[in-house]
Amino acid sequence: MSYLDELFGLTGKVALVTGGGRGIGQVVAQGLARAGAEIVIISRSGADETVKKIHADGGKAYSLLADVTKEKEVDAALSEILKKSGKIDIVFNNAGTCIHEDTLKASIADWREVIDVNLTGEYIVARAVGKIMIEKGIKGSIINMASMSGTIVNIPQWQASYNASKAGIIHLTRSLAIEWSEYGIRVNSLSPGYISTPMSSDTPQELKDAWMPLIPNHRMGTPEELVGAVIYLAASTSGYTNGCDLIVDGAYHCQ
Ligand code: NDP
Repeated sequence: MSYLDELFGLTGKVALVTGGGRGIGQVVAQGLARAGAEIVIISRSGADETVKKIHADGGKAYSLLADVTKEKEVDAALSEILKKSGKIDIVFNNAGTCIHEDTLKASIADWREVIDVNLTGEYIVARAVGKIMIEKGIKGSIINMASMSGTIVNIPQWQASYNASKAGIIHLTRSLAIEWSEYGIRVNSLSPGYISTPMSSDTPQELKDAWMPLIPNHRMGTPEELVGAVIYLAASTSGYTNGCDLIVDGAYHCQ
């Protein structure tokens, strides 16, 4: 085994990626597979393309349908994973959504939708997987998708529900890290800045033009630039990294 494999290799691990059908989840799922993990993707509309890409690359992957806001659907998917793969070692809790809206114009239904998917959805998945890890004595790694928006306030688009949901994820992560530390389960969050994905491609060009002067690195990031961060948090080399929020935002939050 090479030194890099010793530090970052995931051979023999089973990794669950929520929202891995496109965007960041798709690219990170491919990266975790290349590091050796068997990948299981959960999303509402399927992830055939991601699974095909991983198979073409010689990796192991399959996908299951579930809405992360629906506890029963998540439980059914996790039971299926235990039947097929026997365990879950890694979770990239990535499924998410965003609504840009002035607070005074936003409906409470929109607020609820964003909080439900981003915060409650990640809670439902983390809680259900944490229970399995504790029952099976798995010293796993849970990586919750937060955002720099959990720390900074984006300008000029208003998205209070999204920002609040991601701030909630960062503190949920710290809370679970301490609560489950006695079981050897690590819980960390990842906070990207602006990343080019289908979620951000719907964004009007004038908004992107407004972001550029505010990004110290003067460009958006790519999903590929998040892969190493997730592999680090998933692998044994980060054994003493727990309750951390790893910010990958081209220095945006430093201002
Ligand atoms: P995309 O919109 O490209 O992908 C979102 C994924 O989440 C899709 O696969 C979608 O699949 C899945 N998803 C959404 N709702 C649910 C649900 N209720 N149940 C199950 N799966 C769901 O987004 P990105 O790749 O851009 O974002 C991924 C994560 O990264 C999100 O949490 C986002 O907040 C975060 N992030 C993104 C940034 C960016 O600039 N792009 C910056 C910082 C953080 P389906 O519709 O099939 O269910």
